[in-house]
Amino acid sequence: AQTAQILDGKALAQKIQSQLKERIQTLEPQIGRPPGLAVLMVGDNPASAAYVRGKERACKNVGIASFGRHFPTQTSQQELEQVIDELNRDERVDGILVQLPLPEHLDSNALLYKIHPDKDVDGLHPVNLGRLVRSEPGLRSCTPAGVIRLLQEYEIELKGKQAVMVGRSILVGKPLALMLLEENATVTIAHSRTQDLASVVRQADILVTAIGRQETIGADMVKPGAVVVDVGINRVVGANGESRLVGDVNFDAVAEVARYITPVPGGVGPMTVAMLLHNTVQSYGRTG
Ligand code: NAP
Repeated sequence: AQTAQILDGKALAQKIQSQLKERIQTLEPQIGRPPGLAVLMVGDNPASAAYVRGKERACKNVGIASFGRHFPTQTSQQELEQVIDELNRDERVDGILVQLPLPEHLDSNALLYKIHPDKDVDGLHPVNLGRLVRSEPGLRSCTPAGVIRLLQEYEIELKGKQAVMVGRSILVGKPLALMLLEENATVTIAHSRTQDLASVVRQADILVTAIGRQETIGADMVKPGAVVVDVGINRVVGANGESRLVGDVNFDAVAEVARYITPVPGGVGPMTVAMLLHNTVQSYGRTG
């Protein structure tokens, strides 16, 4: 039987969005314009298109103006860099993000480095990652920030706890490990070369997975009473031929041993979008 309480990212994301909407309504008369976000997408990756639509819909709901643009696959690096320069100068735009992955011929790092750090609402520019390393204020990357915010909402103590971060990507694992450290957890980072992953993971009071492989984490790997946050999003095709999304954790089994667990979907995913809006409003508030 499931004993774990659900960490409901979907509900929290909705609450954050209504708070942001109110904050925008307060700030807008002072600043004289709504906040603005530019999401740049290149090519026709269907998953990316769905994410971009979701982000634009969320912007509309809270009152953020979208300056997004959709470019054909063969768009040149130079043209995109020019667009980013224009958006950097555009005073109506508080946030700029480039939806990844990009077509092969484009250099995503070079584009990212072009974005002004104070408009880097994805928090992936080296200046913002550097601010995180130094524990200085700055724009924090959305998925990791969303995980921390979700844990805080449920008043889950991190201080002094054993946290295990499985995954070390620049997008999720590395910044999230640093944020857990900032919250005074004792942090272990595991990855594909970790020896005896099960025994490392079993130490975790707080277990966070950003692996990208379904059912990597079974119930036998989880300490009874642990808090389990599953960042993974994996598409699987069931016996009936229908595809659905699952995380890195075997949810049904782990929910029987954990104290708290995030569902997939409805856990970390909606929090990522909420934190993107949060970052845009943070950057907007600074201009006022
Ligand atoms: P990534 O860049 O592919 O990184 C995956 C990490 O997992 C790597 O550090 C890799 O180790 C490690 N890993 C792979 N197989 C492993 C194994 N068998 N045992 C232990 N570690 C293993 O992926 P990512 O961008 O961090 O994303 C991870 C997952 O989160 C994906 O499913 C992605 O779709 C999802 N995601 C969700 C959200 C959200 O909003 N919920 C946002 C971003 C990403 P090495 O470094 O050694 O290769």
